[in-house]
Amino acid sequence: MARPKKVRFVEFVPPVQVFKPVGVPRYDLEEIVLSLEELEAIRLRNLEDLEQEECAQRMSISRPTFQRILNQAYEKVARMLTEGLALRVEGGTYKLIERRRCSACQQKFALPLGSGPETKEDLLCPKCYDALRPGRRRRRRGRHSGRER
Ligand SMILES: [Zn+2]
Repeated sequence: MARPKKVRFVEFVPPVQVFKPVGVPRYDLEEIVLSLEELEAIRLRNLEDLEQEECAQRMSISRPTFQRILNQAYEKVARMLTEGLALRVEGGTYKLIERRRCSACQQKFALPLGSGPETKEDLLCPKCYDALRPGRRRRRRGRHSGRER
Protein backbone atom coordinates (compact mmCIF):
# COMPACT_ATOMS: atom_id res chain seq x y z
CA MET A 1 0.00 0.00 0.00
CA ALA A 2 1.32 3.38 -0.95
CA ARG A 3 1.45 5.92 1.81
CA PRO A 4 -0.76 8.94 1.28
CA LYS A 5 1.29 11.69 -0.32
CA LYS A 6 2.00 14.82 1.63
CA VAL A 7 0.73 17.95 -0.03
CA ARG A 8 3.42 20.14 -1.54
CA PHE A 9 3.20 23.92 -1.53
CA VAL A 10 3.15 25.47 -4.99
CA GLU A 11 3.32 29.23 -5.56
CA PHE A 12 3.15 29.33 -9.32
CA VAL A 13 0.58 28.43 -11.97
CA PRO A 14 2.03 28.32 -15.50
CA PRO A 15 0.49 30.54 -18.18
CA VAL A 16 0.75 27.71 -20.73
CA GLN A 17 -0.42 24.20 -19.96
CA VAL A 18 0.42 22.23 -23.10
CA PHE A 19 3.58 22.30 -25.19
CA LYS A 20 3.82 20.43 -28.48
CA PRO A 21 6.29 20.14 -31.33
CA VAL A 22 5.44 22.19 -34.42
CA GLY A 23 4.05 20.30 -37.40
CA VAL A 24 3.18 17.05 -35.67
CA PRO A 25 -0.50 16.22 -35.38
CA ARG A 26 -1.61 15.97 -31.78
CA TYR A 27 -2.94 12.41 -32.18
CA ASP A 28 0.48 11.19 -33.30
CA LEU A 29 2.14 12.57 -30.20
CA GLU A 30 2.99 10.87 -27.00
CA GLU A 31 2.31 13.22 -24.13
CA ILE A 32 4.29 13.57 -20.93
CA VAL A 33 2.51 14.92 -17.89
CA LEU A 34 4.51 17.21 -15.66
CA SER A 35 2.82 17.82 -12.31
CA LEU A 36 2.58 21.32 -10.89
CA GLU A 37 4.95 20.43 -8.08
CA GLU A 38 7.51 19.14 -10.60
CA LEU A 39 7.34 22.43 -12.47
CA GLU A 40 7.57 24.32 -9.16
CA ALA A 41 10.70 22.35 -8.26
CA ILE A 42 12.44 23.41 -11.49
CA ARG A 43 11.25 26.99 -11.09
CA LEU A 44 12.52 27.36 -7.54
CA ARG A 45 15.84 25.61 -8.16
CA ASN A 46 16.71 27.04 -11.56
CA LEU A 47 14.84 30.32 -11.95
CA GLU A 48 14.75 31.56 -8.37
CA ASP A 49 18.18 30.00 -8.02
CA LEU A 50 17.58 28.72 -4.49
CA GLU A 51 19.56 26.03 -2.71
CA GLN A 52 17.79 22.70 -2.46
CA GLU A 53 17.24 23.08 1.27
CA GLU A 54 15.45 26.37 0.72
CA CYS A 55 13.42 24.96 -2.17
CA ALA A 56 12.32 22.10 0.07
CA GLN A 57 11.25 24.55 2.77
CA ARG A 58 9.31 26.66 0.31
CA MET A 59 7.41 23.57 -0.83
CA SER A 60 7.04 22.30 2.73
CA ILE A 61 8.71 18.96 2.00
CA SER A 62 11.93 17.20 2.99
CA ARG A 63 15.09 17.74 1.04
CA PRO A 64 15.21 14.13 -0.25
CA THR A 65 11.62 14.47 -1.45
CA PHE A 66 12.48 17.73 -3.19
CA GLN A 67 15.50 16.07 -4.82
CA ARG A 68 13.33 13.23 -6.07
CA ILE A 69 10.65 15.56 -7.49
CA LEU A 70 13.30 17.72 -9.16
CA ASN A 71 14.96 14.70 -10.76
CA GLN A 72 11.63 13.42 -12.05
CA ALA A 73 10.96 16.84 -13.53
CA TYR A 74 14.37 17.03 -15.24
CA GLU A 75 13.91 13.55 -16.67
CA LYS A 76 10.51 14.39 -18.10
CA VAL A 77 11.75 17.61 -19.69
CA ALA A 78 14.79 15.77 -21.08
CA ARG A 79 12.58 13.09 -22.61
CA MET A 80 10.26 15.69 -24.07
CA LEU A 81 13.13 17.53 -25.73
CA THR A 82 15.09 14.51 -26.96
CA GLU A 83 12.17 12.35 -28.08
CA GLY A 84 10.05 15.20 -29.45
CA LEU A 85 7.09 14.60 -27.18
CA ALA A 86 4.28 16.86 -26.10
CA LEU A 87 4.25 18.07 -22.53
CA ARG A 88 1.21 18.80 -20.42
CA VAL A 89 1.49 20.57 -17.07
CA GLU A 90 -1.29 19.18 -15.00
CA GLY A 91 -2.28 17.73 -11.65
CA GLY A 92 -0.12 16.55 -8.80
CA THR A 93 -0.38 16.52 -5.04
CA TYR A 94 -0.13 20.18 -4.24
CA LYS A 95 -1.76 23.16 -2.62
CA LEU A 96 -1.60 26.60 -4.19
CA ILE A 97 -0.34 29.12 -1.71
CA GLU A 98 0.92 32.66 -1.62
CA ARG A 99 3.65 34.12 0.55
CA ARG A 100 2.67 36.98 2.81
CA ARG A 101 4.53 39.00 5.38
CA CYS A 102 3.17 39.54 8.90
CA SER A 103 2.33 43.20 9.51
CA ALA A 104 3.44 42.90 13.16
CA CYS A 105 6.63 40.83 13.22
CA GLN A 106 7.51 40.84 9.50
CA GLN A 107 7.70 37.05 9.52
CA LYS A 108 6.92 35.51 6.13
CA PHE A 109 4.30 32.82 6.05
CA ALA A 110 2.15 30.88 3.61
CA LEU A 111 -1.57 31.26 3.00
CA PRO A 112 -3.86 29.32 0.68
CA LEU A 113 -4.06 31.28 -2.57
CA GLY A 114 -6.80 33.88 -2.57
CA SER A 115 -7.53 33.74 1.15
CA GLY A 116 -6.84 36.23 3.89
CA PRO A 117 -7.48 39.94 4.15
CA GLU A 118 -6.99 41.98 1.03
CA THR A 119 -4.85 44.60 2.70
CA LYS A 120 -1.40 43.40 3.54
CA GLU A 121 -1.15 45.92 6.39
CA ASP A 122 -3.73 44.00 8.40
CA LEU A 123 -2.24 40.59 7.89
CA LEU A 124 -0.85 38.84 10.96
CA CYS A 125 1.02 35.56 10.96
CA PRO A 126 -0.49 32.64 12.89
CA LYS A 127 1.92 33.30 15.77
CA CYS A 128 1.01 36.98 16.25
CA TYR A 129 -2.65 36.29 15.67
CA ASP A 130 -2.61 33.68 18.44
CA ALA A 131 -0.71 36.04 20.73
CA LEU A 132 -3.54 38.55 20.46
CA ARG A 133 -6.15 35.99 21.44
CA PRO A 134 -8.07 35.29 23.54
CA GLY A 135 -9.51 38.10 25.56
CA ARG A 136 -7.22 40.72 24.20
CA ARG A 137 -8.57 42.86 21.46
CA ARG A 138 -6.72 42.65 18.24
CA ARG A 139 -4.85 45.89 18.09
CA ARG A 140 -4.80 47.56 14.79
CA ARG A 141 -1.33 48.49 13.79
CA GLY A 142 -0.89 51.66 11.83
CA ARG A 143 1.56 52.17 9.06
CA HIS A 144 3.82 54.08 11.41
CA SER A 145 4.56 51.02 13.54
CA GLY A 146 6.82 48.40 12.11
CA ARG A 147 9.17 48.88 9.27
CA GLU A 148 8.17 49.12 5.67
CA ARG A 149 9.14 45.93 3.90
ZN1 LIG B 1 3.81 37.86 13.21
